[in-house]
Amino acid sequence: MKLSTRWGSEDGRERAIYYLEDAKTKFPDLLKFHASIKYNVPQWTRPAFDILVSNDWKLGDLPLLSSYDLSLEVIDLVVKTRDIVSREQRRLATLPPPIGHHSGCPQHKREKCEAAWIAAWILVIGRQVVHVDALFQLQPYQAAAAIKSLVVPGMSERCLELAIARTLEGDAFDYLDKVCTAALARLSPS
Ligand SMILES: [Zn+2]
Repeated sequence: MKLSTRWGSEDGRERAIYYLEDAKTKFPDLLKFHASIKYNVPQWTRPAFDILVSNDWKLGDLPLLSSYDLSLEVIDLVVKTRDIVSREQRRLATLPPPIGHHSGCPQHKREKCEAAWIAAWILVIGRQVVHVDALFQLQPYQAAAAIKSLVVPGMSERCLELAIARTLEGDAFDYLDKVCTAALARLSPS
């Protein structure tokens, strides 16, 4: 059944927008994303897509939507993008952003300084980035606060300040934005 016929009207676009904008509507983000492409409602596309690739929406939910004519291209894009996002998360979780040392950090202490940074990153930030429960996953918008509050035993205080500043300036947490932008650019106009 097509979205338009489900709402029993030839003016399917208006009806779809009306129903999907209603906060009480129980339509999952996948339907909203699909409708945003089918009926060209660009203001929905990115927000719905961002949610779809970030939350723990399951492929197993798909049969619940079998009465809708969800296009395989749309589902495929979401699934593949989620895979890319989780790969980027694993990379970020295990590869801490490189750091420099404050000029006051003596040469013989730098190795220890760096090891402390790597350990803290993996244990505190990395663990949250790849948390199995999406509810506790560190989202890019929460990253700055988490990084600023990092406590790194064994690392010189000024090096830590430097590392935090560099990481905040860097693009380590831009992966979600980049991956989503690239994915949506591949969507063929219908
Ligand atoms: Zn140092």
